[in-house]
Amino acid sequence: MKPEHHLTVNEIFYSLQGESLYAGLPCVFVRLTGCSLRCSYCDTTYAYKDGRTMSISDVLDQVRAWNCRLVEITGGEPLDQQHTPELITRFLDVGYTVLMETNGTIDIRLADSRCIKIMDVKCPGSGESEKNDLENLNRLGPKDELKFVITDHRDYEFAKNLLADKWPLGFPVPVLFSAAWPSLAPAKLAAWILADNLPVRLQVQLHKILWPSEDRGR
Ligand code: SF4
Repeated sequence: MKPEHHLTVNEIFYSLQGESLYAGLPCVFVRLTGCSLRCSYCDTTYAYKDGRTMSISDVLDQVRAWNCRLVEITGGEPLDQQHTPELITRFLDVGYTVLMETNGTIDIRLADSRCIKIMDVKCPGSGESEKNDLENLNRLGPKDELKFVITDHRDYEFAKNLLADKWPLGFPVPVLFSAAWPSLAPAKLAAWILADNLPVRLQVQLHKILWPSEDRGR
């Protein structure tokens, strides 16, 4: 019998998907512990270290209890843990739609190609833009999504120019722009996008609108 692999899990919860083309759908979130970045706007600092060890089978059992076929593997940074790819494949093999939020610094091919990657490119305002692995842009599949968290106009210009340089004839994947809370008002970001007629999708952080006073489990 193969040994059962384990992960460090910060929290597992059921909520609405908030920041992708799947926004608004009920989803079970598996938040894994650990991230090698320290973004200026990070709202999950509690996931840097806190967590409990769980076997992959235990994670699947806990998620199954919600009877929801959409699961998101998030963090922290999921790919920082060695056995995350196996967790993703196990969910896919029993019929789940699996989203993975990743910070874009680790080769996304580690995760099963059937998994939908929602990948960040870090802008200068994060303080971590030097760590982007821009080769990951070439590894995105047609179901994947690319996300930029924008803190100010410099970040907006960074994202716009990077996209124009990389894909002058049009983007091969949906591109999401999200205003960093609370430093940039979404309406300001909307005005910049409209002024440039940029074919990106403005994201608002749904959980911050629905549950403004709750930091965790949302
Ligand atoms: S990559 Fe995500 S979890 Fe890691 S520091 Fe940045 S915002 Fe926080």
